[in-house]
Amino acid sequence: MMQSKPNPIPGVRFTLITDISHTPYSKMLPGHVAGVYSFNETYIDMRRLARFFQAQLYLDRAINLDLINNKVICANHSPVYFNYLSIDIGSTPETVNISGASQYAIIVKPISRFLTVWNTLIKIVINEPQQQYSIGIVAEAQDELN
Ligand SMILES: Cc1cc2nc3c(=O)[nH]c(=O)nc-3n(C[C@H](O)[C@H](O)[C@H](O)COP(=O)(O)OP(=O)(O)OC[C@H]3O[C@@H](n4cnc5c(N)ncnc54)[C@H](O)[C@@H]3O)c2cc1C
Repeated sequence: MMQSKPNPIPGVRFTLITDISHTPYSKMLPGHVAGVYSFNETYIDMRRLARFFQAQLYLDRAINLDLINNKVICANHSPVYFNYLSIDIGSTPETVNISGASQYAIIVKPISRFLTVWNTLIKIVINEPQQQYSIGIVAEAQDELN
């Protein structure tokens, strides 16, 4: 819930380039996978977020950087000029070097792709109730007590 009001700095213009309009909030992802929260309860609407913060939004994929002219090259829009650039395009775990990973693993990042694959898997399981499935989870353990 966006309660507080934005406080724009005069002369500063924000532009957000993202390739998805609705991004799941990662911390709520386990709850969504467990069926506790619907997708509608877990995603962030980028259009609404940009409107609220008075930012220009481009729903597009950044494909290159022109560092001579300070521009982000996009797949569809014309290049976007910047004075300062923050790149937060997430990580995509490498699977090619792990035997069997590309065949069996569903990687969590990017989350939007994970959800597409996960929802497809759920449909397959529901449509084949006679079939037995085993799902393993590989996760990094973090000591949250320290
Ligand atoms: C289940 C789970 C729980 C987590 N819990 C926590 C937590 O409690 N606390 C914490 O600090 N962190 C947590 N994290 C980690 C946190 O989600 C990440 O550290 C954070 O999301 C990284 O932000 P990011 O913007 O770099 O990447 P992402 O959140 O992955 O966002 C990248 C975005 O960039 C877009 N994108 C990618 N490529 C392009 C392109 N070429 N052009 C345009 N857009 C592009 C993607 O569509 C995506 O929307 C959790 C992660 C998961 C999976």
